[in-house]
Amino acid sequence: MIRADLHIHTTYSDDSTVTPKALVEKLVAHNSIKVAAVTDHNTIKGLNKTIKLAATYPDVLIIPGVEISTAEGDLIILGTNVAPPEPWTVENIIDFTRDNDCVSVVAHPYREYGMGDLARNYEVDAIEVFNGVSSPHINKLADKLAKSMKLPGLAGSDAHSLSESLTAYTKIQATLNIDEILKAIKKGLVTAHQATRSIHF
Ligand SMILES: [Zn+2]
Repeated sequence: MIRADLHIHTTYSDDSTVTPKALVEKLVAHNSIKVAAVTDHNTIKGLNKTIKLAATYPDVLIIPGVEISTAEGDLIILGTNVAPPEPWTVENIIDFTRDNDCVSVVAHPYREYGMGDLARNYEVDAIEVFNGVSSPHINKLADKLAKSMKLPGLAGSDAHSLSESLTAYTKIQATLNIDEILKAIKKGLVTAHQATRSIHF
């Protein structure tokens, strides 16, 4: 079983101050969260650097990803080192995700730039039910959405600063292997948590 923060922005998102180096150092120092997904806004430019820095540490793993802004709301792709082809419609992103064995995640559905109930119209793989910078009420609505769609609920900090990172994590029944992690997420072998307490509503 691993604990992973599945939603982090680095300085390659122009609204984040988390450097790849600081993120990797925090994972190295952390006693239980050793996995993080780098999900910058609309770019994969920060991935290589972060993955390279983490490669020195056998107990730390970076899941490659990206958070794409679509007209309907933000969608995270986990497991990709490349950006999906444009135009970035929800349909195109889901097709890309499926063709490349990635995982599509509806980010913070009921916050600004969230897909809200539109998520119900698409065959996404998972819903972010705990977002570290969303209110408890908004997260609760996301959890209800995931349950009603019978989809796995994931947690991520959505950190844009180092102090926000690793404040949320997903427990995943997998080892430190990206393919295994992605498969376990799709199978729903996951639970969403806040770093200090479990979130079961
Ligand atoms: Zn985000």
